[in-house]
Amino acid sequence: MRLKNKVAVVTGASRGIGKAIAECFGKEGASLVLCSRNLDAVEAVAKPLRDQGCTVVAIAADVSVREQAENLITSAQEHFTRIDILVNNAGITRDSLLVRMKDEDWDQVIQTNLTGASYTIRAIARIMMKQRSGSIINISSVVGITGNAGQANYAAAKAGLIGLTKSAAKELARRGIRVNAIAPGFIETDMTSRLAPQDQERITTQIPMAVLGKPEDVAYGVLFLASDESCYVTGQVLQIDGGMVM
Ligand code: NAD
Repeated sequence: MRLKNKVAVVTGASRGIGKAIAECFGKEGASLVLCSRNLDAVEAVAKPLRDQGCTVVAIAADVSVREQAENLITSAQEHFTRIDILVNNAGITRDSLLVRMKDEDWDQVIQTNLTGASYTIRAIARIMMKQRSGSIINISSVVGITGNAGQANYAAAKAGLIGLTKSAAKELARRGIRVNAIAPGFIETDMTSRLAPQDQERITTQIPMAVLGKPEDVAYGVLFLASDESCYVTGQVLQIDGGMVM
C-alpha cells in the first residue's frame, strides 16, 4: 500500500476524475477527506469506500468560496490532526468564444478552477509547513499549455494553475512540501460527455493513441505524485494525454 498512514484531501470527488482519485487512494491505504458542493453526491462515493475499510470524511464545500475552502482544510486537520496530500481537482467549464463570453462565465471559471486552488493551498501550506512535509497536486489541463478556441476562460485558469504550481513549488520546497500539476488530455467524464459526437470524433483523431483517456489513467499519475516514490519531483507538469501534446 503506497499511501498507508497518509491523509489526503481531494476536491471535486463526487464523480469523474476526482472519484477515480478517491478510489485509487482508498485502495492504497490513505484516509480521505472528500469534498464537492453536494453532500449526498460525495457521500455516495464515500460509502462504498468505507464499506471496504477506508476511513472517509465527506464534506460539502464550494472551493470557489474562500470561507468554505478554508473550512474544508480546517475540518480535515481537526479530524485527522495532519494532512499529507491535497489534490485540487474541482473544476468547471463555461465554454464560449471570447467575443461572446459573459463576464460571469469568465469569473466563475477563474474563481473555481484557479482561485479556489489558491485558497486551499494557502490554507494547507501553513499545516504542511509545520509538519515539514506534504504533497500538493493541481489538476490542470493540456489546454492550459496549448490554448483552445472556445475555452479562453478555462485555458487561462488551467495555465494559471501551472504558474501557481511552479511558484508554490519554489516557495515551499525547503519546507519539505512538493507541488506538482497533472495536465490531462481528453478523459471520459461528464465534462467531456457534453461534447457533440462529431467533436469527440475530431478530438480522437488528434490523439496519437486514438482513444480518450479514462479517469483511472489520471488517478495513477496523481498516485505517483502523491506517494513517496516521487519524493524528488516538484514543480512539474505531468501530461496524461495519449500523446496529444508533445
Ligand atoms: P466533472 O465535471 O465530471 O467533475 C468535476 C467535479 O468537481 C465534480 O465532483 C463537481 O461536483 C466538482 N466541483 C465543481 N465545482 C466545484 C466547486 N466550486 N467546489 C467543489 N467542487 C466542485 O469533471 P472531470 O472531467 O472529472 O474533471 C476533473 C478535473 O479534471 C477538473 O479540474 C477538470 O478541469 C480537469 N480536466 C478534465 C479533463 C477531461 O477531459 N475530463 C481534461 C483535463 C482536465
